[in-house]
Amino acid sequence: MRPSKRLDRIPPYLFAELERKITAKRATGIDVISLGIGDPDTPTYAPIVAAAQRAVADPSTHTYPSNRGRAEFREAVAAFYERRFGVRLDPETEVMAAIGAKECIFNLNLAFLDPGDVALASDPGYPVYTGGPLLAGGEPVLMPLEPELGFAPDLEAIGPDALARARLMFINYPNNPTGAVVPDGLFERAIDLARRSELLIVHDNAYSETTFDGYVAPSFLSIPGAKEVGVEVFSLSKGYNMTGWRCAAIVGNAEAIAQFWRLKSNIDSGNFEAVQLAGAAALAPEVDAEVAAMNAVYARRRDLVCEALGRAGVQVTPPRGTIYIWAPIPEGFGSSAEYCEHVLEQAAVAISPGGAYGRSGEGFFRISLTTPDDRLMEAVERLRQL
Ligand SMILES: *Cc1c(COP(=O)(O)O)cnc(C)c1O
Repeated sequence: MRPSKRLDRIPPYLFAELERKITAKRATGIDVISLGIGDPDTPTYAPIVAAAQRAVADPSTHTYPSNRGRAEFREAVAAFYERRFGVRLDPETEVMAAIGAKECIFNLNLAFLDPGDVALASDPGYPVYTGGPLLAGGEPVLMPLEPELGFAPDLEAIGPDALARARLMFINYPNNPTGAVVPDGLFERAIDLARRSELLIVHDNAYSETTFDGYVAPSFLSIPGAKEVGVEVFSLSKGYNMTGWRCAAIVGNAEAIAQFWRLKSNIDSGNFEAVQLAGAAALAPEVDAEVAAMNAVYARRRDLVCEALGRAGVQVTPPRGTIYIWAPIPEGFGSSAEYCEHVLEQAAVAISPGGAYGRSGEGFFRISLTTPDDRLMEAVERLRQL
């Protein structure tokens, strides 16, 4: 057996590696607290589960789904975008279902990159922004997110050669892993750049519903001109506690969505329509209160963690969105991986090394807030005692 050279191009997936280490430690009886993976710890909201139960019992969901998504789902996404973001979408041509944002982001690389083409990837960023282009035979070019610019990439700093070859740009706000919200004018500047090049902007919207302190995240598509040059990938995973369901939508530029559909009809057969009907139920106004209650829980955990880190001498700015705290590693460690290894060995707490999200993440670590309060506090106390 001989694996493809394509597979050799990608580094091992960070979280698979982390999970392997945690499992090995737990097998020896050690009580590891994992703050590594961003996976909500509380159940999917009850109205969504109830809708899914009804949908599973409905035989119309038992056949092959349509790739582009069931009409009820596409219509619910369009209604949500209008109500929540003031964005008008045609459910026929500007909305399509995806089997999670990860599938969608990966497949956009297959749909839009040829060998030699470039995908501009936020750095630090979700690992698929670099693994996707590599597997598709393209080339990821990192765009460092600058802390002084509010974690915006400096678009002026993209080299002319990379820009000439760029076909995709991946951006994401509220941002994983930094917790930053979209810096003023960034979406506008990205649209302006895309108009002057042959570039599709992909805004990864995984966290617009997970925000705090009264901050309301915009959609990329709410900026004039966005639909001409971009798409947004809207995931229900984090905001609706639906990571296991694999439910997302791609919205925006109709031509890009048509190409995505053309590709996908050769790759998969869509998402289970009962999942799509559950997703449609999630986007109804009645579920807003559940989302708000969940955000209050995350905001409380965020404050507990930031305060405890502050007492331990680690200064962090409390993020206004996402489920992550992004913090500098203490002095005396050679790399973020070395620090995280040390924390896992000495404190039995799993955290993510910033370097795993790209070169610019080096020197930082990420804590996920998706752990019950008492375990989260125990973990932070263990860190303080290191
Ligand atoms: C969690 C996450 C995803 C994956 O979302 P799914 O819909 O579960 O595939 C994509 N992008 C970012 C930035 C994420 O944090």
